[in-house]
Amino acid sequence: MKDLIEIKGVRHAYTTKAGPLPVLDGLDISVPEGSFAAVVGPSGCGKSTLTKLISGLMKPREGEVWLGGERVTGPRKTVGMAFQNPVMLEWRTIMQNVILPLEIVAPRMPQAEREARAMELLEMVGLKGFEGKRPSELSGGMRQRASLCRALVHQPQVLIMDEPFGALDAFTREDLWQTMRDLRVQKPFTCVLITHDLRESVFLGDQVIVLSGRPARTQYVLDVDLPADRTLDILFEQKAQDMLHLL
Ligand code: ADP
Ligand code: MG
Repeated sequence: MKDLIEIKGVRHAYTTKAGPLPVLDGLDISVPEGSFAAVVGPSGCGKSTLTKLISGLMKPREGEVWLGGERVTGPRKTVGMAFQNPVMLEWRTIMQNVILPLEIVAPRMPQAEREARAMELLEMVGLKGFEGKRPSELSGGMRQRASLCRALVHQPQVLIMDEPFGALDAFTREDLWQTMRDLRVQKPFTCVLITHDLRESVFLGDQVIVLSGRPARTQYVLDVDLPADRTLDILFEQKAQDMLHLL
């Protein structure tokens, strides 16, 4: 499979009053098209910085970021983003929130087509019947489901999620994991997931990329084989335990 994302020798430092703050120091990552990369690493190691480098919101001081065969040099509309606390426009309905990216990237698309696309996704994540509700009427897990639909509605080249399930309780979180896997089967997409949760990384990722060190670099890439019936706990025993000592 061809690589959709290639990150080659990326180094980054922020400019601070006290001088440059090196954050990433040697990042090498390849994400094949259609695959799911989970990125784990300690707080402050530069994971969110990495999402901004892929989406073109920031340029690395050194090294190269490629997306779909093009060098990333500025912000890209072909990236979908989801965060821990989804920002929803509270005065708009769920449907109106989900179609927002289409209003921006496809201004001439007929409203009916926008809504049909949104509806298909809302159904897949179990939100059929909630399209007319306001965000405040939804639980945290449902808001996160709606924000996933919004992040995917314009069929981005890649979905980037920065600790999307961190604020959810354990049951809701595991439900969402299953939804992510079901979604990928129905509508394949490429995904980069940033997470603190090793079980999540192994459950969802086709590969788990471990960042660590100060400043951080790619330490370790674990390929996760996908047995059809993979059981979370068995996998966790087998794989995630191996990674613990790396963090
Ligand atoms: P993570 O997402 O892994 O917790 P971040 O990428 O958010 O890490 O941040 C990495 C480091 O860079 C942290 O020490 C953070 O304080 C610092 N940092 C992040 N953004 C900025 C910024 N805009 N200016 C200066 N320092 C920053
Ligand atoms: Mg972060």
